[in-house]
Amino acid sequence: TDLSHIRNFSIVAHIDHGKSTLADRLIQDTNTVADRDMKAQLLDSMDIERERGITIKANTVRIEYKADDGEDYVLNLIDTPGHVDFAYEVSRSMRAVEGSLLVVDSTQGVEAQTLANVYQAIDADHEIVPVLNKIDLPASECDRVAEQIEDVIGIDATDAIQVSAKTGVGIHETLEAIVTKLPAPEGNRDAPLKAMLVDSWYDPYLGVVVLVRVIDGEMRVKDRVKFMSNGTIHQIDRLGVFRPDMENIDVLGPGEIGFITASIKQVRDTRVGDTITSEKKGAEEALDGFKPSQPVVFCGLFPVDSAQFEDLRDAIDKLALNDASFSFEMETSAALGFGFRCGFLGLLHLEVIRDRIEREYDIELITTAPSVIYHVYMRDGTKIDLHNPADMPDVTHVDHIEEPRIKATILVPDDYLGDVLKLCQERRGVQLDLTYAGSRAMTVYDLPLNEVVFDFYDRLKSVTKGYASFDYQLTGYQTDNLVKMSVLVNEEPVDALSMMVHRDRAEMRGRAMVEKLKDLIPRHMFKIPIQAAIGGKVIARETLSALRKDVTAKCYGGDATRKRKLLDKQKAGKKKMRQFGKVDIPQEAFISALKMD
Ligand code: GDP
Ligand code: MG
Repeated sequence: TDLSHIRNFSIVAHIDHGKSTLADRLIQDTNTVADRDMKAQLLDSMDIERERGITIKANTVRIEYKADDGEDYVLNLIDTPGHVDFAYEVSRSMRAVEGSLLVVDSTQGVEAQTLANVYQAIDADHEIVPVLNKIDLPASECDRVAEQIEDVIGIDATDAIQVSAKTGVGIHETLEAIVTKLPAPEGNRDAPLKAMLVDSWYDPYLGVVVLVRVIDGEMRVKDRVKFMSNGTIHQIDRLGVFRPDMENIDVLGPGEIGFITASIKQVRDTRVGDTITSEKKGAEEALDGFKPSQPVVFCGLFPVDSAQFEDLRDAIDKLALNDASFSFEMETSAALGFGFRCGFLGLLHLEVIRDRIEREYDIELITTAPSVIYHVYMRDGTKIDLHNPADMPDVTHVDHIEEPRIKATILVPDDYLGDVLKLCQERRGVQLDLTYAGSRAMTVYDLPLNEVVFDFYDRLKSVTKGYASFDYQLTGYQTDNLVKMSVLVNEEPVDALSMMVHRDRAEMRGRAMVEKLKDLIPRHMFKIPIQAAIGGKVIARETLSALRKDVTAKCYGGDATRKRKLLDKQKAGKKKMRQFGKVDIPQEAFISALKMD
């Protein structure tokens, strides 16, 4: 296809504003997929994505469209992940296209992820076409929302297209706008090959599939190509496009988006954002801005049933094959046994992986408190990247500790603003901005990431009855008064419960933790002190009093079967316990204690 007849675009939207439904419509109305093969949300492939209504990996489809000008166009849609955790993937896929449809639910208006995603599109120099969706609903307010787009985002929305992705109104206008408003890609077929590695994933039949956007030159089957970040050479054994099923073609030229396979074993060997060129007479310089995505949130994953450790290893290995941004290493915990310390792009990423292990591999997990990476500067001048509180060195050797901070943008209806400000303040936030757009307030906070990884989303949702939207980006590191808090049960430290906290919040956290544990740990035949401590200093303490009588005592000795039943029940209960020194701590205690509130 010649460049003037190609349009590459993505759709940016806040979750639930109708991105996937609109994509389905565009695919359907251009007969890209026969009606009988059409199923809802064609682009969201994984079950968990469907259930949660989020798109995790970028997906792509090539649409052929005969426009009103009588010409045939190729439209390539890259569906970007809609969540903050995947911001880096979003920014890469944005660079692979020239324009964006900005979808805003006309019954809701601009939300935090609308902003985050549209700023990415603006950064990538996109032409942006605003689309007001859900106009079939009585609550639709196109004028108000168009005005809000102009006020808050600062782009012209006078020609915003009014659409119902549900009924199909405005879909033709949207296709025409893609052709007439978005620019054609630029590129040179005769220049050395330069293609961007947009995404990659593991396919059980084909091995690693690589999504590419060709900038200059051409790619053909049998070509030997070089991945510029690490110099590896691969021979292309299959090449094609998505409609949306994979279809082989002979050549991918400038401006085109498609896939290659090249006998690549693991997703880890391909890096999103990398430049692919030819082995011989390749491009001299790579495309700019390549940086591998880094995990920012860490936690331990342990099987509830320690016999399932090997199954867990297997599950993690398999998931990692398809997700290069997820890191792991083995970890042993005195309390929880064998497990893995895992690194994630963010909390949603953590949740997705944990859910997949539990569901797809049927392994019940204990997740330890999520931690961020602290920079620990030692008195001897060395620096440690600490992502497991258990590895915290002796404080007497520590000079100072830095923690990561984020810039968080929160949009919320006026009525709930007070509660949101209070929550941010409690979490050591510093307000940077507060503005209004209609009856919604937008506030920007500088917050420590560690205060957000616990339960910030959940708290935000509950104090605003679900009306707030939230987005963040990492800004950098800052020194603060941070300490490791340990939890001791019967004088023994329980490693899985130790955490890094701000000194000013330590007492409160410690108190909450010991009170919770007191309710969660069953009474034993002896007294059990439960303590929270910083270094050697106890900051909170509870005592679990001793159990006076044998459980069977209340059976009055008479009924043998009843006595047996009770003992069996106790034994079954025991199985789910972890022996800790002389104390048995039930699994439930860890799970609940690690949920902060
Ligand atoms: P996404 O999260 O942006 O991909 O949003 P979805 O496409 O999954 O849509 C979210 C919800 O809104 C789904 O229940 C859709 O059926 C619904 N929806 C999408 N577009 C429209 C529309 O034009 N009108 C109405 N009434 N509902 C819509
Ligand atoms: Mg979706």
